[in-house]
Amino acid sequence: MYRGHSGSTIRSHNRSLLLRLLLLHEPISRVELASITGLTMPTVHGLIKELMQEGIVEELGTTDPQGGGAGRRAALLGLRPKSRMSIGVDLGVRTTRIGLLDIKGEVLAEKQVIRHEADEEPRDTLDKVFLAIEETLDRVPLNPRDIVGLGIGVPGLVDVATGHVRRTPNLGWQGIPLGAWFQERLALPVIVDNNIRAMAIGERMFGRGREEANLISFFVGPGIGAGILINDDIFRGVSDGAGEVGHTLIDPAGPVCRCGRQGCLEAVASNTAIIRKVWEAATAGQDSELGNLVLQELSSQDSGELTIEDVVRWAEGGNTYCKELLEDAGRFLGEGIANLINLFNPELIIVGGELFNHSDLVFDSLAATARQKAFSVPADSVALVKTGFGKGQGLIGAGALALREFFYSSSTSQTLVEYPRVAEQGRVRR
Ligand SMILES: [Zn+2]
Repeated sequence: MYRGHSGSTIRSHNRSLLLRLLLLHEPISRVELASITGLTMPTVHGLIKELMQEGIVEELGTTDPQGGGAGRRAALLGLRPKSRMSIGVDLGVRTTRIGLLDIKGEVLAEKQVIRHEADEEPRDTLDKVFLAIEETLDRVPLNPRDIVGLGIGVPGLVDVATGHVRRTPNLGWQGIPLGAWFQERLALPVIVDNNIRAMAIGERMFGRGREEANLISFFVGPGIGAGILINDDIFRGVSDGAGEVGHTLIDPAGPVCRCGRQGCLEAVASNTAIIRKVWEAATAGQDSELGNLVLQELSSQDSGELTIEDVVRWAEGGNTYCKELLEDAGRFLGEGIANLINLFNPELIIVGGELFNHSDLVFDSLAATARQKAFSVPADSVALVKTGFGKGQGLIGAGALALREFFYSSSTSQTLVEYPRVAEQGRVRR
């Protein structure tokens, strides 16, 4: 249904369009902005003047004159760093990261909060998070009015419209009005979403996905999931449950998953599944070298837990059991990715998680399987990369949830100007 648009709606839509082009393609001139968007030069001039007066846009220099010095130089524009900021909360099963991001996705300050017990009350965890937010903001000189909002990435099912956490199996939270709790204490817009969906948004705005409007972020942690962007829109599904690739069947004879079914991807290739297999092999005396490594690790720390980083380190150090286990996990993950490629035909899949941060072992195995198992046409057109954010992927995603609202909020759902693909217009990315 077309409802028509007032002049101010069109103006704010165009303003938001220019902001997004500046984010993805700066430095860029007014002439290029006009030619990509189809807006008139006076419109572009007026909106850029307004954005410069607000301190959001600045001039970065000039283009080289055309024809070796005779032509006119045009001013190149970009977003002014630190002109707007957001707070990101990457809620983790054990570690929660809190950070301040600027308009370009730079992390200006960061803190971590640890949940000491698995059954810590949500309110107790959040009290620590609020304290960490205050401490983070104290460390950076800023005008509170420049903070556009707070984004929270949650490892589980979230009702995005209400900010309610439906279920986070790994945290054990259920029916928590997280958005409302945050809003009670901070006078800011609060956006709550699934953490892996947030990562997809962070990658699109600030990371490896700046050139691709059809991308999937694939994350392996205690669980496995996917964040899906189709034509720059977040695909959430009808009840915000899309992307649960961890609960797709991968091995009918595999172990029982925590969802109750047998042979889910998560049950065979998540960090939890891998660590459990290492633990079982070590305690069963299957591999004496591994047994010694596990004993040494447990006696050198007080948490009494193995981490996925330990397993990766041992595999890279030459332990055959761990190496084969990780290569197997990579093959299962590659099957999951091949399914995503066949279903969504994306341009880009960005893989993240601690399994990939310090080693290419799992990634190489995953990429080879994905290429081999996906149909050739979609497989040929997809790029498969690791995140460039490392451990910061979730935090940057969480902060991006709020910044995305800033970049997109003034646009209407009724697209007035088709979102342009700059690459298709022959422009070389700087
Ligand atoms: Zn499952």
